[in-house]
Amino acid sequence: MNYVEFEESRNFIGRIPYGEDLYDYLTAFVQENGIKAGQISAIGAVTRARVGFYDQHNLQYIERELNKHLDITSLSGNISLLDEKPFVHAHILVSDDEGSSYGGHLLKGTTVFLCEFIIKEFLPEKALVRSEDESTVLDIWQGQK
Ligand code: ZN
Repeated sequence: MNYVEFEESRNFIGRIPYGEDLYDYLTAFVQENGIKAGQISAIGAVTRARVGFYDQHNLQYIERELNKHLDITSLSGNISLLDEKPFVHAHILVSDDEGSSYGGHLLKGTTVFLCEFIIKEFLPEKALVRSEDESTVLDIWQGQK
């Protein structure tokens, strides 16, 4: 089974302080609040970004550092369990002063200028659990807990 039906539970809306690492902050937030399953969205701006592109031939992430001021046009992600702990998987789309956009898998190393987030928790009795997949060598949803 690779999906679970949930009912919505708690909802959070907030601002991430200037200078925080976006990925680390979101991870700490979901772990501190015990959110085992949910949805994340955010908008705002970053002073730099670090994103990954998954190379399907070599089965590893190619990392890209964007060392400039960027708007967060969109951030979309989910929360599930990896190694028994709440885990954030998010993708981010950012745009520069000319309107050019860059996107990818959100990595540690993205520094917040301003970020407004919304997190929706799904009822915590069950959660999707990640473990390593043979075909992709990624930690993907394999079952429910
Ligand atoms: Zn990803």
